[in-house]
Amino acid sequence: MARKSRKHAETAPVQVVQKPMFYAGAYIRLSVVDKKHKGDSLETQQAIINSFIADHSDIELRECYVDNGHSGKSFERPAFQRMIADMESGKINCCITKDLSRLGRNAIDSGYYMEKYFPSKDVRYIAVTDGHDSINGQSGGIMVSLKNMVNEAYILDVSRKIKATIQMNIRNGKFIGSNAPYGYFKSREDCHQLVVDEYAAPVVRQMFEMAADGQSHQSILAWLNDNKIMPPRRYMHSIGLASGKETGALTEWWSLRAVRDTLKNKVYCGVMIQGRSKVVDGVQVNLPESEWTITENAHDAIVSRELYDAVQEAWVRKSAPDEPYYKTPNTENVFARKLYCAQCGHALHRKRGGERFYRYFCNVSVMYAKDACNGVTITETAMKEMVFALIRKHEPFLTLALSQDVNNFAVSVSAGDKLKDELAAAKSELDKNNRFLAGLYQSLVDGDISDAEYKDMKGAYETRITSLTDQVMRLQDAVHNRAQQEKVLSKARASVRKIEQVSDLTAEIIDRLVEKIIVYHSGRIGVKFRFMDDVVHSSEELAEGGAGA
Ligand SMILES: [Zn+2]
Repeated sequence: MARKSRKHAETAPVQVVQKPMFYAGAYIRLSVVDKKHKGDSLETQQAIINSFIADHSDIELRECYVDNGHSGKSFERPAFQRMIADMESGKINCCITKDLSRLGRNAIDSGYYMEKYFPSKDVRYIAVTDGHDSINGQSGGIMVSLKNMVNEAYILDVSRKIKATIQMNIRNGKFIGSNAPYGYFKSREDCHQLVVDEYAAPVVRQMFEMAADGQSHQSILAWLNDNKIMPPRRYMHSIGLASGKETGALTEWWSLRAVRDTLKNKVYCGVMIQGRSKVVDGVQVNLPESEWTITENAHDAIVSRELYDAVQEAWVRKSAPDEPYYKTPNTENVFARKLYCAQCGHALHRKRGGERFYRYFCNVSVMYAKDACNGVTITETAMKEMVFALIRKHEPFLTLALSQDVNNFAVSVSAGDKLKDELAAAKSELDKNNRFLAGLYQSLVDGDISDAEYKDMKGAYETRITSLTDQVMRLQDAVHNRAQQEKVLSKARASVRKIEQVSDLTAEIIDRLVEKIIVYHSGRIGVKFRFMDDVVHSSEELAEGGAGA
């Protein structure tokens, strides 16, 4: 650009001195999208150009070129082409547009004519409302805005090209992921090509063979973890291929899910499946299977197609629905989110243990590895008995603490009384700002305010509206929460009375009294009540009776 400016600066003074006559072509472009926009109507553009010419005695209007609503590509604009032809023939040596954006359909297009074509033909170019006239040399403002427009267009173009390259790689079965699937490396020569990792591939092969032999995912998992085979992410890390977390933070166990995913992955029989999703308007959407890009023989297979298919069939047979066995009616899980394994710290799961009862257990050894936890299990009945006994034992203290807690709670609830007033005020303020914003556009249409004023004021209103909307939502939540708190409060008051005559544990009572319960391998439990610092433990006799169930 700099070189061109200099060149122009050399020629311009000559033209100024000679005061030559310029034969102008007025170029007017109406695009389909601005047909409704008053500021860029055909008449407006025409009027602005005419008044400019009227003020400049050295310019004479020769011809008006109008492209009316052409939405086609830039080189298809017929009037523009006619204007260029007239420049070539020397009929005109000046081009006037209302503003820079009228010249070309995009910044690169405009920039080309402004910086390359017009100077090469010694054509004077004027963009009236941008205040640009090439006879004065390059004016700073328009060059900055042009450069910005060009940069934006360039960035858009580059990102489009990157997308196109990725699409092409996908179509050609080239691997585009950041990490190769377990069992493969990305080739050193071509990062889009997978090559077999001779250390991990035998593990994958063994997994498939075990599965085809009818072994469950569970026992494959056990084999992997018992043999201390590193799970995929950790393995990648150990050979310096995966980025991210420290090795220490990565699990050292294979998970059931990793086993399942491996055995389902077609990549191991040489098939590359990519393009399962795409980004539409910034949102990732999953594509139907019919639109996936599937490439056979994209790389060397680790298992044969026959072995892969055999494993899938075995999987389908196994996952046939179980016969209806669970007859226990659904009952409330009164210990929800309270029970933890004393061995490994994980939350316990609740499961029907038979026809008539539920059981809680730690499933870490099942999900991960036998060694990860030696497991705890306890029936719901035993759990209730033990917790109930502990509540009874500490009843006077709990009743007292609970009633104090209820009183404190009542104080904090009443502090929320102003909330409704605040909400009403925020809502009316929001309505007002919305009305102002709507009125603003009318003012622009009526010509009471300028484009720039409109933009400024609109921005200010929008910022205010965003923050008010947040505020209203926050207050609505708070008002809702307060209503909930009031309900909890009245229940809590009732539960203080109930605790003396409690006959069955409900979730509400557990929630009020108990912070957490830990379950030991022996079947013993430790309860952390909300109002006591120490954990209290179930007595041995109860524990034995309870754990045996
Ligand atoms: Zn555990």
